[in-house]
Amino acid sequence: MTYDSDNIFAKILRGEIPSKKIFENEVALAFHDINPMAPVHVLVIPKGAYVSHDDFSANASQNEKSGFTEAVGEVAKITGLAQSAGGQGYRLITNSGPEANQEVPHYHVHVIGGRNLGVMVGKI
Ligand code: 5GP
Repeated sequence: MTYDSDNIFAKILRGEIPSKKIFENEVALAFHDINPMAPVHVLVIPKGAYVSHDDFSANASQNEKSGFTEAVGEVAKITGLAQSAGGQGYRLITNSGPEANQEVPHYHVHVIGGRNLGVMVGKI
């Protein structure tokens, strides 16, 4: 899938639309989801142009991958969700492709918590 540089997260990265940033490093940006599903719902995105986890895992550099993973860990601590920060834990979700209902075609990880999150996925 070709990267669409007009997607909403690309616009956030370029500062064309606002976001509530909570963390940034050399390779990643984290900000609050506009439609939170739990008391804490943060999105972590790479600064590079990657469509999905498929794309990121295949094509990002080791520096991007390690920095992105560190950013997710920092978000879990900053938000107080991480057990190492005294929290009760959290869930990471990344939707990749149509059956996962990925809406925004720029790779992102949802960091969700602040309540009991129940079952991982609803059964059919
Ligand atoms: P996906 O379904 O692609 O995994 O999740 C996309 C997420 O992006 C959704 O949770 C949605 O609420 C969030 N989102 C969509 N547009 C915006 C926006 O303009 N700003 C922010 N902060 N989040 C957005």
